[in-house]
Order: sequence, then structure tokens, then C-alpha cells
Amino acid sequence: MPEIHALSDNEKQQVRDELAKRIAGFRDEGLKLDMTRGKPGPDQLDLCNGLLTSVNARNFTSRDGVDSRNYGVLDGLAQAKELFAQYMGVIPEEIIIGGNSSLNMMFDTFAQLMTRGSSTRNTPWQGRKRKFICAVPGYDRHFTICEHFGIEMLNVDMTPDGPDMDAVEKLVKHDANIVGIWCVPRYSNPTGYTCSARTVERLASMPVKCPDFRIFWDDAYAVHFLGEQPDELANLLAACKKAGNAERVLMFGSTSKVSFPGAGIAMVAAASKNIAWLNERLFAQTIGPDKINMLRHVIFFKDMEGILHHMKRQARLLAPKFQALYSILSAELGGKGIAEWTSPRGGYFISLNTPDNCARKVVALAAELGVKLTPAGATFPYHKDPRDRNIRIAPTFPELNDLKKAAEVLAVCVQYVSLT
Ligand code: PMP
Repeated sequence: MPEIHALSDNEKQQVRDELAKRIAGFRDEGLKLDMTRGKPGPDQLDLCNGLLTSVNARNFTSRDGVDSRNYGVLDGLAQAKELFAQYMGVIPEEIIIGGNSSLNMMFDTFAQLMTRGSSTRNTPWQGRKRKFICAVPGYDRHFTICEHFGIEMLNVDMTPDGPDMDAVEKLVKHDANIVGIWCVPRYSNPTGYTCSARTVERLASMPVKCPDFRIFWDDAYAVHFLGEQPDELANLLAACKKAGNAERVLMFGSTSKVSFPGAGIAMVAAASKNIAWLNERLFAQTIGPDKINMLRHVIFFKDMEGILHHMKRQARLLAPKFQALYSILSAELGGKGIAEWTSPRGGYFISLNTPDNCARKVVALAAELGVKLTPAGATFPYHKDPRDRNIRIAPTFPELNDLKKAAEVLAVCVQYVSLT
């Protein structure tokens, strides 16, 4: 079919009638499909069942003699720090291993900055009109943290090379109240883009007015490739050190989508001064993390090679789901001039843009037909997509046939809404 907007009124009416018939058909099917969140499927989780037995009543002591069942070792077992320092591209002295959620660590770090000040100065962020830069479309939970603390959010576009650096540099140069930026550097949520080496270098070296400006570098999808190898990502901490801004970056990661989202391990990596600053809070906060889980992970994965091998097995389960989505989107929407979507090499999401002012209607219509999608607007601060066009697609959880049906419904809804 040619571009929808090139059709005559009569032809448009014909297409609309055909789509209405398909919509009625979907309605009759009584569908109940959910593509709201990027959760691993049960088949992915099964690949990690060995974790449930890798620590047992005869095997709970770490290599350096720590009884993992007991209190203590605030910043994580040495074995876990060794393995996940490699994972994050730092040395073991530059990492803290925490509980099961990196989002939790980001929240706590944010709270520390708000209430106590940073490793650079003792002035807490709260009390002044602070602002944060958010690359959009982006991850809704980052935006929720800013909203929770009353921090104003400023949008910059997410490009295939990362945040629009011209815009970022312009903002941070003169405004001392812009205290940080969120960035998902690899297979970003939801676009799937990976920051280029040039973006990393610019983030590390750009002149910034705020003395304790912080980059929240959420490398949630560090090894989540769909092919054979992860995308290369330049090391931001190394770049920051080189530029004389070692304390500028706080890097987060977790095994939520490597092992189990409910029982993975999370980590924060940063320059030693930041690690010392984070440890001060940890001391006030806890008597020790879940070291049994750390030991489980280290025994199960052994080394980086073990993690990468495991992720290849996951990719074999996930790649067909992404491929199915691309095929359906291309067949239904390709060449019609009403939608564009990303084709990531990894991660958990695809970002779809409809014509302006259509995303909310598309999501509502799909919901009426029994297909739940991430709410329109969720990928923007304050749930406000200025063009009301972005939809995040999360293909990992549904099983393949359900996913194909959900994709077909979505594509039909996009066409129908675009024509009405
Ligand atoms: N960051 C990003 C970018 C994510 O997409 C997610 C999960 N959707 C998280 C963090 C959550 O990580 P965790 O489970 O470690 O809290």
C-alpha cells in the first residue's frame, strides 16, 4: 500500500472499513495479552534454576572464609566484587554490591545527595530549585525518582548516539541548579540505542556549572545482546578520570535480567571517593547485605565468560520474539508513512512512534481489545509526551504466539487511529 496520506478519501474509507472488520474480529476473540513491562519470560528464568541450589547447607562459606549466612561485609563479598567489577569495567575497590535492585540503589544514592550533600561538597541538593536532565524517550522509573524528590526535569532528545549532547552541553554550562542527568547508555530503555564513544567523551569532559553534577549511568542492559556480542560502550569512569572529573559519574547495574529480577544482585561502581561517600551511608543503613545471594551468583556464573555464555542462551530465546515483532510491524506498517520504530541489537524494548497525537488513542484502543501496553506518555517526565506519539513495546514476557497476536493488534490500532 502507498503512504496512507496519499490515498483518496474513498480509498481511506475502504481501508478504514477493512480495519474496523479486523478490530471487530479481535474483539470477538476476547484477548487477554500483556506487553506492559519488560520482564524476562519463564523460559529465560529457567536457564538460571541452578542458582537455587548453588549454595546449600554444605556450601555457604566464601573463598575468603566469610560465613555468608551472617551479618557483615557491608560493601559485598570479595568474590562478588571481583566478578562484577569486571562486569562494570572497574577495579574491585570501585564497586559496592548491594541487594536485588539497582533502582533501589539509585533511589538511595539520590536521597543521600538530596539530604546530605555529595562527595564533592556538603551542600544537600534539597532546598533549592534543582533540575535534572532526562534523555527522552526514557525510563519511567528514573523520572519517578525525580518527581518523588521534587526535582524539575528537563527533556533532551535521545539520539542513536545517546543524549543530544549539543543540548546537554548548552544546559549544564551556565545553570548551577542543573545537578545531574539520567542515562541508560546501552540498549537504552526504550529506544535500544547505545551511546557512542564521542558521547561518552563529551559527557566526561563537558564544562559544568554545578560543582557536584552527577551522571546517573544506568547500565541495566550491559550484556543483554540479541546477537553474539554486546555493543561496545566506552568506559565513562575512565573517561571522567582522564578529564579530571572522576567523581562526576555513578554507574549502576544489576543481574535482574541476567538471573532473576526478584533475586538478582545490584551494584554501584564509581571513583574511590564516591565509594567512600556511599559506604558512609551504608554504615548508617544496614548491618550487611544478602551475601548468600552474592555467593550463589558467583558459584553459578563463575566468571565473565560464564555470564556471556548464559546471555547467549538468553539471546536465543529472545531474538525470535524481536524478529517476529519486526516482521509484523514491517508487514502491517512498513511504507505507510504512519509509524517508525527502532530495531535494537539488544535490551528489552522497541520504541514505536505513531503520528502526532495518536499514541494515547492507540494504547486505549488496544486495551479495549484486550492488549495491555505501557501507558502512552510513560517514556517522558510527568507522563507528558509533547507529541503524544511514543509507545514502548516490551516483547520479552509473552510467549511467541501471544506476542504475534499482540503485535498485530497494535499495528492495526496504529493504522486505524491514524486514519480517524
Ligand atoms: N534501569 C533500567 C533502565 C531498567 O529498564 C530497569 C528494569 N526495567 C531497571 C533499571 C531496574 O533494575 P533493578 O531490577 O536492578 O532495580
